[in-house]
Amino acid sequence: MDPLISLHGVTKRYDASTQPALDAVDLDIEAGRITAIMGPSGCGKSTLLNLVGGLDRPTSGAITVGGVRVDQLGEAAAARFRRSTVGFVFQFFHLLDDLSVRDNVAVAALLAGRSRSEADAHADEMLAQLGLAEQRRKFPAHLSGGERQRLAIARAVINRPAVLLADEPTGALDRHNGEIALALLEDLNRRGQTILLVTHDEVLAERVAHRIVRLIDGAIVGDQPARMVA
Ligand code: ADP
Repeated sequence: MDPLISLHGVTKRYDASTQPALDAVDLDIEAGRITAIMGPSGCGKSTLLNLVGGLDRPTSGAITVGGVRVDQLGEAAAARFRRSTVGFVFQFFHLLDDLSVRDNVAVAALLAGRSRSEADAHADEMLAQLGLAEQRRKFPAHLSGGERQRLAIARAVINRPAVLLADEPTGALDRHNGEIALALLEDLNRRGQTILLVTHDEVLAERVAHRIVRLIDGAIVGDQPARMVA
């Protein structure tokens, strides 16, 4: 089977005079797994995630996600790709503070072309699944950190993206809420969600990931299975 995500000779230079953030990276990722990208700060983890998610373009090399050459997309096509094929979860949630909990989720479905009533119904379903049904009329400012991250996860997966990209999703959470967020990601994965997880937390990666890819200075230096694969 073809890999869901494929990087071939991917280099990203933000600045011509410095070392590239990614240096000729080759990486294939199968569907259905949790793959952790690990390495010290500045090694290129977020850059890799942003390139796979079509938020930025490589300086050279090819990136394919679900059969789409992401590196060749124009701006409008990249925006469509981001709405339909990937979901993002960030360390600091990136929620829309002026929208209710329900609207934070529904807006992602509206942007993907659903009707208002479909988007609302779907958002309510997602929120119920993630234990946030009671909070749906509240605003993000009135949620705990753990609830905010659950909300961000609900928004990220409402359009059933081929891949969920999570950048330090537990980085701003205490241990208890971090555990809840992780359990949620594992649950989504058990139902088939492919997840690419950036973290510098060794314990977390060992626990949830099927595979750990290690980066140093923009190059892959390790690539191993992380736990018994069911
Ligand atoms: P990590 O996520 O592993 O901490 P990043 O991908 O954020 O690493 O960064 C990799 C390298 O690229 C670092 O040297 C960082 O300073 C640089 N970098 C990241 N984003 C930018 C940017 N927008 N402009 C210039 N340099 C950047």
